[in-house]
Amino acid sequence: MMISNSFGLKAKAKNHIHINTLDDLSMLDEVNQDEILILGAGTNVILSDYYDGTVISVQLKEIEINGNCIAVGAGLNWADLIEHCLINQLYGIENLTHIPGSVGAAPVQNIGAYGVEISSFIRSIECFNLSTRKVETLNNDQCEFSYRHSIFQLKNYIILKVNFIFNKSFEPNLSYPALSDFLKDNSIDSSSITPRALSESIKDIRNSKLPDPKLLPNVGSIFKNPILRTNDFDRTFLVGHRWDQADGYSKFSAARLVELIKPELIIPNTLGFYANHSLVLINNGGASFDEVINLLNQIQSKIYEQFKIQLVIEPEIIGS
Ligand SMILES: Cc1cc2nc3c(=O)[nH]c(=O)nc-3n(C[C@H](O)[C@H](O)[C@H](O)COP(=O)(O)OP(=O)(O)OC[C@H]3O[C@@H](n4cnc5c(N)ncnc54)[C@H](O)[C@@H]3O)c2cc1C
Repeated sequence: MMISNSFGLKAKAKNHIHINTLDDLSMLDEVNQDEILILGAGTNVILSDYYDGTVISVQLKEIEINGNCIAVGAGLNWADLIEHCLINQLYGIENLTHIPGSVGAAPVQNIGAYGVEISSFIRSIECFNLSTRKVETLNNDQCEFSYRHSIFQLKNYIILKVNFIFNKSFEPNLSYPALSDFLKDNSIDSSSITPRALSESIKDIRNSKLPDPKLLPNVGSIFKNPILRTNDFDRTFLVGHRWDQADGYSKFSAARLVELIKPELIIPNTLGFYANHSLVLINNGGASFDEVINLLNQIQSKIYEQFKIQLVIEPEIIGS
């Protein structure tokens, strides 16, 4: 059975299980935990051509609203949740508009964009614990969220439902430079911006910087921005491409690091970087898993050799 993925890699799996109701979890009794791959929309994975195990797709899509708390099935499309929040005056995630994928995958890497991370709006998560074989609820602290990280990356849980808590009053976060510049350039008054206008602005910015995976297959950012001790680097290093954090650490632009070593890379014709964003690797057609991995390894070693920075790959690499 083919596995759909936004990088357009030809990938198959031995088995596929769809979780449409909680009763379907009993199907997991038949499969060994070592052979399970939980997948949403496949927009953050690099897949080898054959997965010798069972792909689990959670298809639960219910939405229950209780005041500003909302419980959402993991299988709902992220874009549908954004729209639902806008319609129901639930505020906070406008800056996360137009991130592809499913609600269930959003907590896994704690999706973030334009100064907002989803972990700020998660009250708890209902999931199936693959070790205890029971449905459990983890509160926000138990999810161990940080930048592009959560406990779910350990692969011990299937996320079934996410319980969000949103704001009832609209307090837009417009601090991110690319966003405030866009509003200024388009004469949008930031003091009276509506939630819909903010969401549309984010969509416009993203469309100008990121390729549509349906036209140019990609997984968004291919590396995480490294967060490193400020004092370990000269103040002039990556100036204009680094952001000091409050705790003695700085976030450095992985895109800039890739640009600096790009001329030295040997890139196969099947792969390339998007012209408007050097952190977005594109499948030009017919790229193989090995070509992707070789190129990513090449980038990591060159950056390590030159800057002693170990870049971490953002999408999950799923080998055979
Ligand atoms: C053009 C483009 C732009 C992007 N921009 C951003 C961005 O701005 N910010 C950002 O953070 N990300 C971004 N991404 C990455 C991606 O959209 C997100 O990570 C998204 O949440 C992935 O959703 P998915 O359903 O496709 O997950 P998948 O790719 O299917 O899975 C991703 C990971 O989550 C796990 N997973 C999926 N569902 C579940 C579940 N129910 N239970 C447990 N684990 C699960 C998988 O095992 C895998 O490890 C972008 C991707 C693209 C293609």
